[in-house]
Formats: sequence, structure tokens, C-alpha cells
Amino acid sequence: MLFLDELPEFPRKVLEVLREPLESGEVRISRARNQACFPARFQLVAAMNPCPCGYHGSDANRCRCTPDQVRRYRDKISGPLLDRIDMHVPVRSLRQGELQNKTLGDSSSVIRARVEQARARQIARQGKANHQLSAPELEQHCELTLADKALLEQAIEKLGLSTRAYHRVLKLARTLADMAAREQVNTVDISEALSYRTLDRQSSNT
Ligand SMILES: [Zn+2]
Repeated sequence: MLFLDELPEFPRKVLEVLREPLESGEVRISRARNQACFPARFQLVAAMNPCPCGYHGSDANRCRCTPDQVRRYRDKISGPLLDRIDMHVPVRSLRQGELQNKTLGDSSSVIRARVEQARARQIARQGKANHQLSAPELEQHCELTLADKALLEQAIEKLGLSTRAYHRVLKLARTLADMAAREQVNTVDISEALSYRTLDRQSSNT
């Protein structure tokens, strides 16, 4: 796993280099006449603030950034890189005392068991994890009803997403169905997978 904190603070050139290994799982280095290829399959996790001051969208503090500053900050992450990040999850700041409260969510061990089962389901069905499916394999293992297909296509067009993102949303929906032990991907899975593309939504609106 590669975790990049404060994602927009990395030089754009560095971030753009990640695009190839994110897609192929390999890093190619060319120097003069020599070329070397190294395995580089990793899961990318990144964190960023909503704006330079960090308070955009917060109800506890006022954001002091101009709309232009917010846009320039978010534009540091290019569209093609954003395209390859499957889940964008907004995390709101904690209110006072919230950290001490006992959470009612599942424990890590319960979630781990659920993930392991979902993965085992994928291997049993298609011999590999969902993220490794080619486009034709995806069609085969992620059959959608006509209505769900139309929903997905409309959303992709509205968000201005690429064909690559289309396949990534579909793979995520397949995984969500696997997490819920469902044979078929349904409307709820498609909608949930689309709901994780919040940053595409913001950039397509501006
Ligand atoms: Zn701000």
C-alpha cells in the first residue's frame, strides 16, 4: 500500500508518474539503451484537505479561501489521476468529545472476515480479484439489467468520466455486491459505486 498524505503538496510531475503503474502494475525505467521493468502493484491511498486552509465545507470553522484558491488547490490533482482513484470519501472533522464516544460500527476483525469472504467469492467465480478483470471478463461477470446499464451510462456522461472510469465503477459495484454476498450486481451497488466519485463531480461542475 502506498499512502500519500497531503496529496496536492506533491509535485504534479511525481503524481503523474504514478498513472502508469496504477494501470499496469509495473514500473518501466529507460536509461540510454537500457530498459528495466519492475513489479509495482500497489494500492494507492491518499489524503487531502478540501482547500488550502482546510475548513471548506466545515460547519465549525469558516473557510478563508477564495473560490479561485480552492479550484487551483484541487486542480493540482489532474483529471487522469483522479480517474484512476476509485473511491473518493469525504471525511468531516470530529466534533468535540466525539473521539471519546464509543462507536457502534463493526470491529476491524469483523470487517476483515467480510473482506476475506468477498475476495474468496471473486477467486471462486473468476480465478482472480475484481480489479484484475479485463473489459470482456467484466462484461461476463458483471451483467447489468438494461435499466442499470442506462443509469450507469447517464451518470458517466453527466460526470464526464472516461471509459476507464466506467470500468472502474463497474468493478467497484461488483465488489460491493460481493461484500453483500450477492450473485448479481444491482441498482444499489451501481449507485453506491457512483457516489464515491465526488471529486469528479466537483471538477465537472466548475
Ligand atoms: Zn479554505
